[in-house]
Amino acid sequence: MTQFEVHDHDVLAKTRALMSETESPKEWADEVVKAVKRNEEWRGKRCLNLLAPEAPTSPTVRALLSSEIGTRAAEGHIGRVNRWFAGTQHIDEVEALCVELLKIAFRCNYADHRLMGSMLGNLTVYHAFTNPGDTVMTASQPFGGHSSNRDDGPAGFRGLNIIDVPYNPETLEVDLEKFAQVARQHKPKLVVMGMSMTLFPLPVREMSQIVSEWGGKFVFDGAHQAGLIAGKQFQDPLNEGAVVLTGSAGKTFSGPQSGMLMWNNPELTEPLTTAIFPVLVATHQVNRVAALAVSAAEMIEYGEKYMSQIVKNSKALGKALSDRGIRMLGKERGFSETHQVIADVKKFGGGLEVAHRLAEANIVTNKNLIPGDGPEDWDRPSGLRIGTIEITRLGLNETDMETIADFMARVLINGEPTESVGKDVVDFRLPKQDFYYCFDNGYPSWMG
Ligand SMILES: *Cc1c(COP(=O)(O)O)cnc(C)c1O
Repeated sequence: MTQFEVHDHDVLAKTRALMSETESPKEWADEVVKAVKRNEEWRGKRCLNLLAPEAPTSPTVRALLSSEIGTRAAEGHIGRVNRWFAGTQHIDEVEALCVELLKIAFRCNYADHRLMGSMLGNLTVYHAFTNPGDTVMTASQPFGGHSSNRDDGPAGFRGLNIIDVPYNPETLEVDLEKFAQVARQHKPKLVVMGMSMTLFPLPVREMSQIVSEWGGKFVFDGAHQAGLIAGKQFQDPLNEGAVVLTGSAGKTFSGPQSGMLMWNNPELTEPLTTAIFPVLVATHQVNRVAALAVSAAEMIEYGEKYMSQIVKNSKALGKALSDRGIRMLGKERGFSETHQVIADVKKFGGGLEVAHRLAEANIVTNKNLIPGDGPEDWDRPSGLRIGTIEITRLGLNETDMETIADFMARVLINGEPTESVGKDVVDFRLPKQDFYYCFDNGYPSWMG
C-alpha cells in the first residue's frame, strides 16, 4: 500500500519502530516528555542558537505559558457584552492590559493581540483590504520576502494577483525607480513589505507616497523587526506611511510565538478586527496573551538597550566572520542594522550543508536564499542566515562575537571536526544560562 505522507518517511518509520516496542500509552507519553527534555538539554542549554526568527522568553513569560488561564475559553472582543461566555472578567483584565501595553510599546493608537502568528496577521490584512482578483505587490523570497505574502501563502490563498517589488540585486535595495514605474502601471491595492532576510531599513516613506497616488495602502509586515521597532532601533513604519504594522512576537520582540497587529487610523479598526474575529480566531490562548502582555512590558522597560545590543552584536559578528574569510552580504554598509547577518556559503557547500555541519558543532543557523539563487536552488540555497537575538539575551556582547566567529570559522574555513568544535561551544555556553533584559534578571552585569 502506498501512503502519501508529507513528513520525512524515515523519521516517522523510526518513531513507529520505537512505539511498537510497547502498547502502553503511558510509555508513549513518556517518550514525548523525554524528547522535550532532550531538546531542552541540547538546544536550551548547550547550543548557540543563532536562528533569526527565534527568541528566548524571560522566565516570567515562559511560566505564564503554562498558567491556568490558558485552559479557559474566551473568544470575541474584550468586555461583558462582547463575549459569548460569562466568567471572563479576569481574562478581560489580562487582555486589556495586553492591548494597552502593545499600544505603548509600538507608540500607536490600536493593537490586536489575538492572532496565533504573523501568518494570520498577514491573512487578516489581505482579508480586510482586498478581494480575490485584486493586485498586490510584495517582495520575492530571494530578496528576503516571505511565503505569507506570496502565491503559496495567505496572499495566494486570498486569490490575489501578486507582482514582485523590483530589487537591485547588487545593492539588495528596492529599485525605487522601477517600483514607481511598475506600481503606477498596475496600481496595486496593497504593497506589503515583509522581509525575513532583513539587514537594512526600507524606503517606506517613498513607497507609501507612490502607492497613495491611487489610494493604495502600504503595509509593513514587521514579523522580524517588531522588537527593533518597539525598541526604537529601526525605522518606525507607522510613522513613515505604513497603515498597518504586523509582527511576530516570537522573533525580535522576544515574547511568546504570536501575531501582533498595530495601526493608527480608526477607520481601519472595523475591517481588521472583524477579519480577526469571527474569521480567523475564536478561542485565542489567553495564556499566550498574558505572556505577550508581560513581554510588551519588558520591551517598554528594556527594549532600547536590548535591541541596540542586538544590532551591535550583528555588526560585530558580521565583521568578525568577514575578517575570517567568509563573504558577508551588506559588507559595504556595515553588515547589518538588524538582528541578522547573511553569509554567502556557496563555496563551503551551500546553506543546507553548512547549516547541518554547524548544528553538529552545536551552532544552530538556517539555510537561506540569497540574490543570485534561482527557483531550482530552493532546497539547497547559497546563503546562511545568522541571528543575534538569543545570544544577546544571554548577555553576550561584541567581544563574544569574536569567539563565536572563531567557532564558525574553525568548522567552515579550517575544516576542523565538528566534534571538537562542538565541545568548545558547549564549554562556552554551559556557564551562560540566564536571560537578561527582563524583570527577572535585569541587565547583564557588564552593562553596569
Ligand atoms: C516569520 C514571518 C512571518 C510569519 O510569522 P509567524 O509568526 O511565524 O506566523 C510572516 N512574515 C514574515 C516576513 C516572516 O519573516
